[in-house]
Amino acid sequence: MKVPFLDLSLQHKALREPALAALATTYDATRFCLGKDVEDFEKNFAATLGYPQAVGMNSGTAPLHVACMLAGFGPGDEVITAPFTFISSAWGINYVGARPVFADIEEGTFNLDPARLAAAITPRTKGIIVVHLFGQPARMDEIMAIARKHNLFVIEDCAQAVGAHYEGVPVGIIGDVGTFSFYPTKNLGGCGEGGAFVSRRPELHTRARHIRVHGSDRRYYHDIVGGNFRMDGFQGALLNVKLPHLAEWTQRRQAIAARYLQGIRLADVRLPDQPGYGRSVFHQFTLRHPRRDALREHLTKHEVGTDLIYPVPLHLQKCYASLGYVVGSLPVAEKAASNCLSLPIFPELTDAQVDHVIASLNSF
Ligand SMILES: *Cc1c(COP(=O)(O)O)cnc(C)c1O
Repeated sequence: MKVPFLDLSLQHKALREPALAALATTYDATRFCLGKDVEDFEKNFAATLGYPQAVGMNSGTAPLHVACMLAGFGPGDEVITAPFTFISSAWGINYVGARPVFADIEEGTFNLDPARLAAAITPRTKGIIVVHLFGQPARMDEIMAIARKHNLFVIEDCAQAVGAHYEGVPVGIIGDVGTFSFYPTKNLGGCGEGGAFVSRRPELHTRARHIRVHGSDRRYYHDIVGGNFRMDGFQGALLNVKLPHLAEWTQRRQAIAARYLQGIRLADVRLPDQPGYGRSVFHQFTLRHPRRDALREHLTKHEVGTDLIYPVPLHLQKCYASLGYVVGSLPVAEKAASNCLSLPIFPELTDAQVDHVIASLNSF
């Protein structure tokens, strides 16, 4: 039995008719940049997920960039983030001329370790970018206590955690700004690029809306420095078709994860922790094994697709060589990069496929 790591074609085949009808409407109305479809999506997204409002943008990197602009980070400032994440979590810090500082993660959840975070703070620290990696919320109580003590601006990178809650609060409005990505492989994926910005602070929404369209709220009058971070109309239209399915897709991801957690019985394997403060939406199901590469080869032989997410932690990426980190600087993240293995976990997987993954793992 073949089990691909990810197959986006199934979801898109199922939604082909409503998706193409929505695209045709937007095409005929020539609503190409922002417009009604994006406005509708912003309202639907906020209402469905529990946010006061949302600002649609043209990638998941865009709201991170905008958030760093709003926070006022700049040259001489340090912003702390996690080293075990997608590189984009840190890019915004560079775009505004500040310095990324990486604090190590905790073994169980792959997320920022509050004690390491506290230890990384210096008089130059201005903010924190928390990542809710693989759909699992980070320890926000401890992180927010540290932020309040040092007066730090907190950005939550929720690119992998749409629909996740921390102690009953949707991720993204615990800190100052929350950011989402609708890249096709995300839990809520567009047919192209997309992202969103949320905040519990209404004034930040207003400023984000202005920054999104070249720092203006009237055409050709620019009160602040902005950029082009607009969501396109086709993405708004498609995401409106997909959003009503998100809850059911998330439940399916959680059911697959529960099956993995119950069924995998492999010596030396470390399954991801499930802390009681919030339930993961399982963007990924990532385990650890000391013989990861051999295990991966074994699974490939059994026609099970896997991925290494992530093979190199950010502090050891070439682009950050000048920051001065070396092998051994952040041992927990480095160990995760060397022994992590992500299993297939998309909603369209059948139980038989999931059981084949489990049986293949257990026969290693
Ligand atoms: C996907 C992702 C992003 C960036 O999103 P893009 O839409 O690709 O720009 C940022 N952070 C994390 C953790 C991601 O997984």
